[in-house]
Amino acid sequence: MTGSIVLFGPPGAGKGTQASIIVDLTGKPQISTGDMLRSSVSKGTELGLEAKTYMESGKLVPDQVIIGLIEQRLEQSDASGGVLFDGFPRTIPQAEALEKITNVSAVISIEVPDDDIVSRIVGRRMDPETGEIFHVSFKPAPTEIQGRLIQRKDDTEETVRNRLAAYHEQTKPLGDWYGERGLLIPVDGSGTIEEVGNSVEAAVKSL
Ligand code: AMP
Repeated sequence: MTGSIVLFGPPGAGKGTQASIIVDLTGKPQISTGDMLRSSVSKGTELGLEAKTYMESGKLVPDQVIIGLIEQRLEQSDASGGVLFDGFPRTIPQAEALEKITNVSAVISIEVPDDDIVSRIVGRRMDPETGEIFHVSFKPAPTEIQGRLIQRKDDTEETVRNRLAAYHEQTKPLGDWYGERGLLIPVDGSGTIEEVGNSVEAAVKSL
């Protein structure tokens, strides 16, 4: 399959965690706009400075900024056989812009109830050395690395409420938009990491 796959779902659904399964199965590179933005913020680039305020308050970064970032990334040679989008598109205008530059073959939607999202996000920790994502209860890190784990600045309870609001207002309608185009594959995201992983794997194999 030469088209791209979109990993869709609310913040904290486990998109970043499950992305590796899809990368392993398809060989497509993962493109996470959240990771790209965080890298720009830590390098202090102009784009990073612009994005930082939105990210820290849990709002979406303006479409034009994101679309520009994606256009540039898709020009790289590893993207020619399709990619795995993680956290993009998040609005209908982003999806419309994407339609013009790449072919989306499937949208895997990880569905998680709102009530589970806050605890998932607030307990999330990352290993800055490997980028691996852990959770204080659901996926504890090995003791020897626990001291170096960091929490994302926007993974606080207050910011999560804004991120959820942005998801419901701006991103969720996009799920229906892809549904109308026959591209949406819903996956139950409320189980354990392994259970969700098995469903994601089955969805990819069905393509
Ligand atoms: P994520 O790591 O995907 O949860 O993204 C973290 C933050 O980056 C979001 O809360 C937004 O502020 C911003 N962001 C990431 N991807 C997008 C996107 N496709 N559109 C708008 N803002 C985004």
